[in-house]
Amino acid sequence: MNTAAESRFVVLGAGITGLTAAYELHKKAQAERRNISVVVLESSSRVGGKIVTESRDGAVIEGGPDSFITYKPQALELVRELGLSLDLVGTEGDPKVSVLWEGRLKAIPQRRLLSFLLCDLFTWKGKARMALEYFLKPGPETLDESLAAFARRRLGPEAYERLIGPMLSGIYAGDPQQMSLAATFPQLREMERQGGLARAMLKRKARKADPELTTFMTLRGGLGRLVEALTLKLPPQTVRTGAPVSSLRRRGGQWHIQAGETVLSADAVICALPANALAQVVGDYDFELSHVLREIPFASTATVSMLFEPGALKSEPSGFGFIVPRSQGKATVAATYTSSKFPNRAPAGHALIRSFLGGAGRDACVDADDSQIARQARGELKEILGIGEAHPRLTRVFRWVRANPQYTVGHQLRLKRLDSCVQGHPGLVLAGCSYFGVGIPDCIRSGREAAAKALRAAAARAPAGVC
Ligand SMILES: Cc1cc2nc3c(=O)[nH]c(=O)nc-3n(C[C@H](O)[C@H](O)[C@H](O)COP(=O)(O)OP(=O)(O)OC[C@H]3O[C@@H](n4cnc5c(N)ncnc54)[C@H](O)[C@@H]3O)c2cc1C
Repeated sequence: MNTAAESRFVVLGAGITGLTAAYELHKKAQAERRNISVVVLESSSRVGGKIVTESRDGAVIEGGPDSFITYKPQALELVRELGLSLDLVGTEGDPKVSVLWEGRLKAIPQRRLLSFLLCDLFTWKGKARMALEYFLKPGPETLDESLAAFARRRLGPEAYERLIGPMLSGIYAGDPQQMSLAATFPQLREMERQGGLARAMLKRKARKADPELTTFMTLRGGLGRLVEALTLKLPPQTVRTGAPVSSLRRRGGQWHIQAGETVLSADAVICALPANALAQVVGDYDFELSHVLREIPFASTATVSMLFEPGALKSEPSGFGFIVPRSQGKATVAATYTSSKFPNRAPAGHALIRSFLGGAGRDACVDADDSQIARQARGELKEILGIGEAHPRLTRVFRWVRANPQYTVGHQLRLKRLDSCVQGHPGLVLAGCSYFGVGIPDCIRSGREAAAKALRAAAARAPAGVC
């Protein structure tokens, strides 16, 4: 039996990052035969954070993320490790995505020259400007640049406005004029350095695709399954819901974490809260850390899932969905034809469509109440898809108020400042969507790294860092 003293860990937040961190702490401690205890403190009454799945009227409704990308392997690896391989579900059908431009949906061209030449999304002038990219020299090395500045410089204003801006800002719910290229799409800058985007794409060897996988995957029954499976791997009573953490301080070589009337002590603390929530928690303890955390802006979004009965829509929309450039003046940023994109998301013959509203600079619409948000989403969908007076049988609104971290220009410098603040606090680890990636695979990577750092820090009583 291992008789070494127990190391105590507290994880703040039971989103995918915090749950992964807790799971990884146990896994690693077991492998290293270390004696540990872990408590996860979660303010809300449920686990999963932004991952929330509901089953209603035979439909699977995702309130937050609906899938994860597979070219970053971390989510797929975790799903397999948790024994959920057989529940993996890929996309199906026509992968067409359209752009709303001047009142019409125009298909994004496939990665073929003919499709690009024939598409009606761009003018001939716009297409010629995009082709010019092949001959452009790399721009000057700058510390950071906005996604908009980069796209306009390389591909011209039309490509930026009609495609690159709305497509790349989607996952961050961001404003491309503010988004940091280096923090969000560093691979684009790297492609430029290597001779340009067109050259890099032509040189790129086709990846050998795994026939079992599609670019986006989800789980049968929804992503809530991942949260359930992770939670089940933790010892009972590990996660305490309804436990909002209000403060954190270090005294006598230990961390003391206040949640309601309870104060817990720990050797290391993994903070898997969004940066704006953590800023409040550490406000009285380290003003500088709290200040830098507050510099990370957050945007509000909402998702509206609408379930239509068979025959309610004049025609079933084809493809995966559409995106809406900012200039088109809509609250809707994008919509996914969920029942066409993934199997078994709606009862037979029904159409499930999910609209995505808000985002940086367009957040005001999320302040309205649920029925107003639903009305706006349905009104815009009606206009865009021409679905007539069809009324959904079921509408479900999820609001994400100041929940989407924005990686604006200067984000990486902010992370360096955060890291130097944290260096002064042995055993404090920052993890999650606010720092090095918002996607589920990034959060899982961050949670795993945070666990490894916390274990090392608790053993050595050394500084930990930001993951
Ligand atoms: C609408 C939407 C759609 C998205 N779609 C996708 C997608 O399709 N694919 C993808 O990969 N990613 C997507 N994302 C991003 C992804 O879902 C998130 O970045 C990720 O789930 C964040 O996980 P997290 O654990 O870092 O943070 P969170 O999920 O925010 O978890 C943090 C937890 O901390 C808790 N908390 C806050 N304050 C306190 C406190 N004081 N004390 C205790 N607990 C506290 C919160 O209640 C929450 O449970 C989407 C996000 C949104 C909002």
